[in-house]
Amino acid sequence: MNKKDIVSLSFDELKIEMESIGEKAFRAKQIYEWLHVKLADSFEEMTNLSKALREKLDSEYRIPLVKMVDRQISRIDGTNKFLFQMEDGHVVESVLMRYKHGNSVCISSQVGCRMGCKFCASTIGGLERNLLPSEMVREIYQIQKISGERVANVVVMGSGEPLDNYDNFVRFVQLLSDEHGLHISQRNITVSTCGIVPNMKRLADEQLQITLALSLHGSTQEKRKMLMPIANKYELPEVLEACDYYFEKTGRRITFEYSLVHGVNDTDEDAKELIELLKVRNCHLNLIPVNPIKERNFEKPSRKSAENFKNKLEKNGINVTIRREMGSDIDGACGQLRRRFVEK
Ligand code: SAH
Repeated sequence: MNKKDIVSLSFDELKIEMESIGEKAFRAKQIYEWLHVKLADSFEEMTNLSKALREKLDSEYRIPLVKMVDRQISRIDGTNKFLFQMEDGHVVESVLMRYKHGNSVCISSQVGCRMGCKFCASTIGGLERNLLPSEMVREIYQIQKISGERVANVVVMGSGEPLDNYDNFVRFVQLLSDEHGLHISQRNITVSTCGIVPNMKRLADEQLQITLALSLHGSTQEKRKMLMPIANKYELPEVLEACDYYFEKTGRRITFEYSLVHGVNDTDEDAKELIELLKVRNCHLNLIPVNPIKERNFEKPSRKSAENFKNKLEKNGINVTIRREMGSDIDGACGQLRRRFVEK
């Protein structure tokens, strides 16, 4: 395992690396293309390099393994859920969703999670480890290869808290949007956070063009604390201020995510408070009827009651959608596929 992870190197770093082992800089371009455009899984495949160079690369570098061990395909909407295994045996989930405007992939950023949100399946076993930048891009690469279809949008909303794996996450964005690689526009990348304030601000200062989604889930500090332990660390006003700062710095409209939990955060009072928070902001609100997990007894509101909640916000000029449930026939809540595998 002490071979260097070659996929996590930026294009410029790879050039320097190749020079350091006595290779010409143009080799870096070929290798980067193999790794990030032709999506190679091994050095052996890199047939425009000499056998000697391929062997040398193989002895000093590694292409971190991201291997499909399960795939489920929805009959309803063609959504694919993948379970990928890493070199050390850990597994993560990724999802391919087909929309009219193109394919979206949802990836994981950590194995497990330590944020402890009450309704979330990914956090139940705690955090196992961070994913490497290479492992995150390779979730997408494998999906593109397996499906044979281009990935247009990427959302970092799978298992894990991306801003708890900050450096690897930022590097991942750079690899994915690099013009020498898949060149996915940063505007087509969304990162979702539970609200780690210092890292939200740091991210704003990176001057990326990605969309920031904040998991709000409660319209007051008290409500948020009931569902999200991270709220004990960062109070709601600070979190909102960090969102405003992100908008100010990047010009990118914030998305707020709000998982509707019946009887907990979906009352008239909640809607009223939410309106007060959001009407002064240029934002989008995504309501997610909570996906019940077997470890907790949270329930989703009825379709009608979710629609009511939405209408109240809409009437007050808030840009709001209810997230369409994708692949409802293939596995309950996010993270359930992995949990089933781990429990086995
Ligand atoms: N750690 C990041 C990404 C998590 S997943 C974050 O907290 O934002 C993306 C979204 O799905 C988050 O808003 C998360 O709170 C929400 N989510 C997780 N489990 C859910 C469930 N069972 N039902 C509805 N939404 C859920």
